[in-house]
Amino acid sequence: MPRAATTYPAAQPAFELARLTGTVELRLAEAVAAARARPAKVTGVLATLLHRLDGQAAAPETLRSLASGTREWLLQRAAARFRPAQDWLAADCQTCGARYDLALDIAALPMKPAGTGFPTVAVETSLGRRSFEAPNGTHETAVARRGLTGEAARRYLAALCGLDADSSAAAERFDVEDLDRIDAALEALSPEAVSTLASRCPNCETETRAWLDPLDYAFPRLEPLLREVHRIAATYHWSEAEILALPTARRRRYLALIGSRP
Ligand SMILES: [Zn+2]
Repeated sequence: MPRAATTYPAAQPAFELARLTGTVELRLAEAVAAARARPAKVTGVLATLLHRLDGQAAAPETLRSLASGTREWLLQRAAARFRPAQDWLAADCQTCGARYDLALDIAALPMKPAGTGFPTVAVETSLGRRSFEAPNGTHETAVARRGLTGEAARRYLAALCGLDADSSAAAERFDVEDLDRIDAALEALSPEAVSTLASRCPNCETETRAWLDPLDYAFPRLEPLLREVHRIAATYHWSEAEILALPTARRRRYLALIGSRP
């Protein structure tokens, strides 16, 4: 029997972000720093920062079922909460290696919409017509865990995303052209958050692209947060739990008051 698709059916679901407190920031810092593969970190960050998804609690299993592009899009939207609209970031030129600055509004990055029929697509293969679903976070994790690349990764993904009863056996028998067709169909089907930025290198003047991972720069870090807790605790003698429970904006107000003390 063919199986039902597991990929969440909305490519750009409605979402509500959690109220920001020190506790939320601490969990984010830990999720980003965790010694885990990137898909697991993305799920951890989204589980911490998303309050609701299409009106429902944003449970980790729901977040893992989102299409890969949807997860990236939500990660960018979540990251935008911590970065200004006129943000400047450093990247290295792909040609000459020189470091250059680039302006980025992470909230304004475009999204390639999902294809018709999302989250499933039928593909004509040498074995006949086969159905697939758009790769989601669970598939990403499985591929990352096996450390597969190239044709082995494509074959494994075809088995994972195949909806027909014989999808594992069929994936072993697909020829390279089948895998190309499946790849192309999944790419057209999947939503995609733009995460590379093109610009001209100011040093060698060639066109270059930068991939800026929000996990690398956008989210709170542990050390600065602990320093803030320390300064407030030293002044007011409140407990760590009390300070972390403060809404972030109010914690900042106290820090400003401490900073302006006569
Ligand atoms: Zn250059």
